[in-house]
Amino acid sequence: MSKMLAATDRAAMIELAAEHAYNAVLITDADMAGGGPFIIYCNPAFCRMTGYERDELLGQSPRMLQGPDTSPEQIASLREALRQGEFWEGSTTNYRKSGEPYVVNWNISPVLGRDGAATHFVSVQQDITCQIRAEAERDLLSQALNQAHDPILVTDREARIVFVNAAFERLTGYRAKEVLGSTPALLGSGEQSADFYREMWETLLGREPFRARFLNRRKDGSCYYVEQSIAPVLDARGRLTHFVSTSWQVDDLVERERVLHAMASQDKLTGLLTRRAGDEVLQSAFHDHLSDGRPLSVVICDIDHFKGVNDRFGHLVGDRVIQQVARAIARQVRASDSTIRWGGEEFMVVIHADMGVAKELAERLRKAVERLQDEEVGAVSLSLGVAEVLPRESIEQLLGRADGALYRAKRNGRNCTMEASGH
Ligand code: GH3
Ligand code: MG
Ligand code: MG
Repeated sequence: MSKMLAATDRAAMIELAAEHAYNAVLITDADMAGGGPFIIYCNPAFCRMTGYERDELLGQSPRMLQGPDTSPEQIASLREALRQGEFWEGSTTNYRKSGEPYVVNWNISPVLGRDGAATHFVSVQQDITCQIRAEAERDLLSQALNQAHDPILVTDREARIVFVNAAFERLTGYRAKEVLGSTPALLGSGEQSADFYREMWETLLGREPFRARFLNRRKDGSCYYVEQSIAPVLDARGRLTHFVSTSWQVDDLVERERVLHAMASQDKLTGLLTRRAGDEVLQSAFHDHLSDGRPLSVVICDIDHFKGVNDRFGHLVGDRVIQQVARAIARQVRASDSTIRWGGEEFMVVIHADMGVAKELAERLRKAVERLQDEEVGAVSLSLGVAEVLPRESIEQLLGRADGALYRAKRNGRNCTMEASGH
């Protein structure tokens, strides 16, 4: 069978191809002068796109598809190209029969006769409304991310930064181009522990969001607190591809918390540390002692015969005496050590020093209190117990021995200092 088709068969085949083409196909005459060109052929895809029946289109000018949002510049450029017999490609808004606008991308080629003049124009068109909408949506999303008030950072699976927004740039002092490709570790302040990061990665790789407070470092070295929430980003097939982090600065909040904590750790009557804050101080001092071997001692003091003060002068005067004693004690203690209101009229000093130094301090405290003279009560005195942490000793054992020493000081006639015995 011959591969060459007879001319009639070929024309039929070409028409059939145009009829079945996915894209809209339009053929017009080349009448540029008398109100044309006019449509002489359009395929079903063109009818589907425009919403017109073929009969409604044939013989009409494609201008019938234009409307208020059709770009006059595009149409002028198109007509100019047609007049020159040149190829043209572009896009603009056209209108369906229903009045609904659509964005069409089309190209037009002149069909040239033997004399070189255009006899027809053939145009292949595509409705790109969906693409334009998707692009607009993408543009909107990226604009929204960029203009969001809080810092946003996106990394790939390997934690390499692929996007940061303007708020991120403002907060950190880094320009986007300086951080793209790096990991967020460049913001690290060193405050978060290895355990913290391990937990973060476990959570994220388990496809759960991770939320925590971070202390981060700016480009200029200064630090800031953020509440940060990091979420895994999954693609349409459920594969983890990125992480998105949103954060908001909480320096004010952290400062308020610090003030509140400081207020809560301060005893109202004396201004010394409360028992609870004192416990924390003692624990952290004990931790330091274990890690760096620095000696650690405690001095426990209790006002002698204080019940009698209350009984004779009343509770308010008792309070005043407690305040005076607290002030006298605190004045003797260095800022690096801590003075705690351990109980009603009991005080404790935590001192980073050995027994010798602690005993000297205890005696200074005792003498300072002995020197006090309240206008009504007159003099009061302190009994004191001193203990230094022994190897392998717990805090409870240390406090137990200090209490034991205080008890002995009371039994020894009060207004004296006793040193705790060993285990
Ligand atoms: P000792 O020499 O054995 O210590 O005798 P003491 O009378 O001081 O006995 P103890 O230490 O057991 O009693 C302390 C008293 O202090 C009991 C309580 O009424 C009084 N007290 C505790 N807290 C306060 C307080 O905040 N204000 C006043 N005014 N009195 C307090
Ligand atoms: Mg007491
Ligand atoms: Mg007492």
